[in-house]
Amino acid sequence: MNMKFPRTMKFQREAEPLWSEQVLKFPGCERVSSCIQCGTCSGTCPLSIYMDYTPRKVIGLIREGFREDALSCRTIWLCASCYSCAVLCPQKIHITDVMYHLKQEAIKDNLFPRRFPIPVLAKEFFKIVLSRGRSAEVPLVLRMALKSNPFILFTMMRSGWNLFRAGRISLKGDRIKGVAELRAALSAVKEANGA
Ligand code: SF4
Ligand code: SF4
Repeated sequence: MNMKFPRTMKFQREAEPLWSEQVLKFPGCERVSSCIQCGTCSGTCPLSIYMDYTPRKVIGLIREGFREDALSCRTIWLCASCYSCAVLCPQKIHITDVMYHLKQEAIKDNLFPRRFPIPVLAKEFFKIVLSRGRSAEVPLVLRMALKSNPFILFTMMRSGWNLFRAGRISLKGDRIKGVAELRAALSAVKEANGA
């Protein structure tokens, strides 16, 4: 039997120290290098049991320059922005903001995990808001499922129907009046972020 075991140990030669230096310049990421790897963030994170790398490990990956691992992990997409880690970090590292920055880079560099619904949802949400000025639940869910895992639609059917009957989901394609102005504002933000 030909079994393949992925290597989990990292070699220093695979690191990109220059990338690590660049990340430290982004707002919220400045204190990453002061991490003492105490693990308080991982211990307090309500979602760390579902993550491939704990928040402590993600901070460690950035600090050591392991760009691809940090940007392609699921952890950054599972982060619920609850800020518990940031509140308790003894080094006052803004871990939640670091996660946001990694998400932006992962989308920009096309390194997010393939067929994982959350980054697909983020991208499609942005596209819909860009074209209509507001989100639209039905097209958003359909696009997310079709571009990631269509089978999740079966698990969402009942709650979707209940929300529709309760009037919480609209099938109308509403648009705001100032879509052009919104697009101009969003493209200015993208330009300012170098995206
Ligand atoms: S709580 Fe802060 S110092 Fe401790 S491992 Fe997490 S990021 Fe590092
Ligand atoms: S902000 Fe994200 S990483 Fe930090 S504790 Fe909450 S879910 Fe975990």
